[in-house]
Amino acid sequence: MAYSKVEQYEDKITSSLIENYRESLALLGEKPDREGLVKTPERMAKAMQFLTQGYQIDAHAILNSAKFHEDVSEMIIVKDIELYSLCEHHMLPFFGKAHIAYIPNGYITGLSKIARVVDIFARRLQVQERLTTQILDAIKETLNPLGVAVVIEASHLCMMMRGVQKQNSVTTTSAFWGEFEKNETRSEFTKLISSRLH
Ligand SMILES: [Zn+2]
Repeated sequence: MAYSKVEQYEDKITSSLIENYRESLALLGEKPDREGLVKTPERMAKAMQFLTQGYQIDAHAILNSAKFHEDVSEMIIVKDIELYSLCEHHMLPFFGKAHIAYIPNGYITGLSKIARVVDIFARRLQVQERLTTQILDAIKETLNPLGVAVVIEASHLCMMMRGVQKQNSVTTTSAFWGEFEKNETRSEFTKLISSRLH
């Protein structure tokens, strides 16, 4: 076999979660033993461990693993990074896009690592505001750049399915540091992320 991706779950955690989810299903009025639900607690246990795997991964280590010396001082932008997270208040998904830019100061990182950092912080229980600043801080602290900018646009299922039921609302959060605190640099960035090149 040339390539295989193996999923690993900790047995003890998985079996405790299975028990918990069986009980939750019963409390919600379901019959956990009916055919369609027999394997549901196990699937939930694995899905939730997958969706919160970010706790186990060190974003700084990932960025440092592909840190290269490079004399570039132009703004580097990775935009439209898909993002899926869970709100910490309801454990319902929020999803959308992240746009990230930094201005190097002697070091760059692999572009895929930028997207990876989004996943590392998104795969936890989150609030969009904290997700935004955690991404910024990780890039700032590892690459020591001249500036970092992070903008996240997301739709929250806890607002769409329950509560205020606003189906089309999109929440935008942003964090700017260093050069991006200057109006000129920041507006260049916002112009570039809102333009469509294709
Ligand atoms: Zn929520």
